[in-house]
Amino acid sequence: MSLAVTLSRAQEGIAAPQVVVEVHLSGGLPCTNIVGLPEAAVREARDRVRVAIQCTAFEYPSRRVTVNLAPAELPKDGGRFDLPIALGILAASGQVPRDKLDDCEFLGELALTGALRGVSGVLPALLRARARGRRVVVPRENAAEAALVPDVDVRVADTLGDVCGWLRGAHELSMPVGIPSDGGAHAGPNLHDVRGQLQARRALEITAVGGHHLLLMGPPGTGKTMLAERLPGILPPLSESEALETCAILSVAGQATDLAQWRRRPFRSPHHTASAVALVGGGSYPRPGEISLAHNGVLFLDELPEFSRHVLEALREPMESGHILISRAARQSTFPAQFQLVAAMNPCPCGHAGDPRCQCTPDQIQRYRSRISGPLLDRIDLCVEVPPVPLADLGRPAGAHDEDSATVRARVLKARRQALMRAGRPNAEISKQELERDCALGPAERRWFESALERLGLSARAYHRVLRVARTIADIDGGAALLEREHLAEALQYRRL
Ligand SMILES: [Zn+2]
Repeated sequence: MSLAVTLSRAQEGIAAPQVVVEVHLSGGLPCTNIVGLPEAAVREARDRVRVAIQCTAFEYPSRRVTVNLAPAELPKDGGRFDLPIALGILAASGQVPRDKLDDCEFLGELALTGALRGVSGVLPALLRARARGRRVVVPRENAAEAALVPDVDVRVADTLGDVCGWLRGAHELSMPVGIPSDGGAHAGPNLHDVRGQLQARRALEITAVGGHHLLLMGPPGTGKTMLAERLPGILPPLSESEALETCAILSVAGQATDLAQWRRRPFRSPHHTASAVALVGGGSYPRPGEISLAHNGVLFLDELPEFSRHVLEALREPMESGHILISRAARQSTFPAQFQLVAAMNPCPCGHAGDPRCQCTPDQIQRYRSRISGPLLDRIDLCVEVPPVPLADLGRPAGAHDEDSATVRARVLKARRQALMRAGRPNAEISKQELERDCALGPAERRWFESALERLGLSARAYHRVLRVARTIADIDGGAALLEREHLAEALQYRRL
């Protein structure tokens, strides 16, 4: 009897649970059984592994081969276990030594030639292997993301033959070479390209400081997209662990290809025809959607009323909780989704409300705006108009009011520090209890605020959200402990849609 064990990792949300691959050879009619994988994947893995072993000039054992992937209840999708299965078969049949297999994990799909193909989710697997103090062998296609994880012994290989040569001590496997990162320096679009739009700039700054959600409303061509694209550039830089977490999501989605900007905050702008699955995630092996790919960054939804209502409703829960739970059959995966929403819309179906060109009836305008549900609008903290830019402003050089991103970012960092010192997180994330403590109002302010809310017909949820925005405005204006009427009035002004 011969038995060999190799180690690998599955993919479940952005976790990477351990999978133990046991290979057993015994007498009897030659056949191969793989247990612990869905049927179709078993057939495919069995055939790929057999041919790859033969093409690498090894012998496929003509005995009864049983491969067990444990634990059995863990969902496992096909290709990533090809390499550990092949190595287990070769070790069990005495064709490669076993001594390095104990403290090493393997990931990789095999081509029939024995070449290794990249797999998704390498980055989360490396983070977990590092925690266990193990080395990892991955396909060269995954070298870029492998290079991002510090303090782990990771090797890259091109073929099954390379890995076997290394196990036998014939040669070394190379380590992945990191790609130079710009360190999160925001070489992205700069705010000094935007002319005028003082009110929208102010709202963008408040959004950046507090981590709030923002809606930009204005006719086509007034620079709503330009403004939204410049939000990541005025946000604080990502910490290394935040950047790795965001990158782990890209990795799981199979999109960790261009990583030169991995320290930059993500900016995702799905089209309004996107499905609910594309936006929030899903699939039989659950994959993250745009809201998770925007984790720690900005999700931009242009033409908000054009998104299907069903798709928009799916945003409500993650906007509150910062993560999304995807259930498929008996399987559940959780993905982080702590994004800042920036939405843009026209004021009416033709886009020119308030202008003689607009022929829309009040009824049409009403119907257009009501495509966005009240509960979603409640969760958007700031709504600001982005009017047409006066002709005199177009094409003129940047003036004193057209501040660049670095100037605004410096103010954002300063104001955000106040919130972090007080509550340890941005104002948009503070709890209701913390609100009582941190957004205290004097008796006159409280009376004034309550009557203003009533006049505007705002809900209880809006009440807390307005207070959070007022707290952010006070932080920008120097961080007074008590909120003043001007902070409340400005915050209310952003809820007048
Ligand atoms: Zn119109």
